[in-house]
Amino acid sequence: MMNAASDDAMGTGADDAMGAGADGPMGSGADGPMGAETVAGGGGGLDTAFFVAWLEEAAGEIARQRDRLTELDAAIGDADHGTNLDRGFSEVLRALRETPPASPAQALMAAGATLIRRVGGASGPLYGSAFRQMGKALDSGEAPGTAVTPAAFAEAFGAGVVAVERLGKAAAGDKTMIDALAPAARALAQTVRDGLGTGEALARAARAAADGARATVPMTARRGRASYLGERSVGHEDPGAASSALIVAALTTAASRTAAG
Ligand SMILES: [Mg+2]
Repeated sequence: MMNAASDDAMGTGADDAMGAGADGPMGSGADGPMGAETVAGGGGGLDTAFFVAWLEEAAGEIARQRDRLTELDAAIGDADHGTNLDRGFSEVLRALRETPPASPAQALMAAGATLIRRVGGASGPLYGSAFRQMGKALDSGEAPGTAVTPAAFAEAFGAGVVAVERLGKAAAGDKTMIDALAPAARALAQTVRDGLGTGEALARAARAAADGARATVPMTARRGRASYLGERSVGHEDPGAASSALIVAALTTAASRTAAG
């Protein structure tokens, strides 16, 4: 049921929008078929190529840090976080290759549906819901290829974090993904209010998420499997917060690969 929208969300016409080069490196996407539809003003818009690049960079970083994530989970969980997420994000990349998304919303909703379907444990539904909610928030029926503003993305990211809070029944300080994601959402919203550029906004979000993940080390887990350990969870970085920081950091590498930076 939760993934029922995935096929519909991908829609028809995706091949037309992405052009023939979608299977290749996305870095040149801004100069390709997407370029003409990038948001007016130049430099600030986040287009489909950017969101695909984000998911690719996140997948790459999770693959590189798979063992570290699993070690963190071994300390306070069940030692499967790295392998679960790596498998899930590999499936996300495959889904994006098989059905190239025609809009930012489609890219994020496809990623979310895939993670919900393919990743075991709590992290699949949590990350999956976050990406799906972000996609829904950006899905305002624009023509395929429309780029979203940093402000719209900040709002959508915030909606994704709220989806995680609700599904995980977690709040800041519980030693979960939220401790990295919520500071990132606040940083994004603040940079929009301050009128900073997209690159700076994403960099500040990445720093906030990394700081937030590190801040979970002295916390006592109150949600998830780690909460069974109580005080013994102190002294370990939360694996979900660690992977969240990687995913947020991938925004900055994606921006530098595409026109968004
Ligand atoms: Mg686990």
